[in-house]
Amino acid sequence: MRFCLTLLVFLLFALTPARADMVDAAFDRAISQFEAARPGLPAELFGVDVAAYRSALTFRQFTSSHWGGTITMRVENGSEANNSCARFAAFVSLPPSDGKVRLILCPQFSTSGADALRTLTVLHELVHVVAGPNECRAMAFAARIEQAATGRFTDVGNYWQANGCEGSGFSLP
Ligand SMILES: [Zn+2]
Repeated sequence: MRFCLTLLVFLLFALTPARADMVDAAFDRAISQFEAARPGLPAELFGVDVAAYRSALTFRQFTSSHWGGTITMRVENGSEANNSCARFAAFVSLPPSDGKVRLILCPQFSTSGADALRTLTVLHELVHVVAGPNECRAMAFAARIEQAATGRFTDVGNYWQANGCEGSGFSLP
């Protein structure tokens, strides 16, 4: 038992710095893409307050007309034991409570997909942080940022259809 515990502690110490670096790198890339897109964005895009989004993404704190008041975003590591982590690479616990909103990054966030997918996940989840749970809004906004920053956007056609986004009023580039 002690051996297992020791091994577990070792693994935690061994994995945590790499994971933290990966999260920071994903945020850095998301910020870069957003900043590249920002000059062409209106003040509000798909119902997302662009200034609040920028503040949330960059400073993890924003003033919200949607939720009311100042909201702080906490980024946490989710575990396999969390039900939502069985389905998602990341998720946001909504609505905020006591001025805090939690972005939970699941193990899948670190293991699956390429850097581009992690960047897209951050762009997508931040829409939920700022503007609530609508999946079509989050996909439309993130795709617009990708398109404006890189000239292309990730194919989310299956997810778009699965969430019934045709006729939602939101659109992909
Ligand atoms: Zn989503």
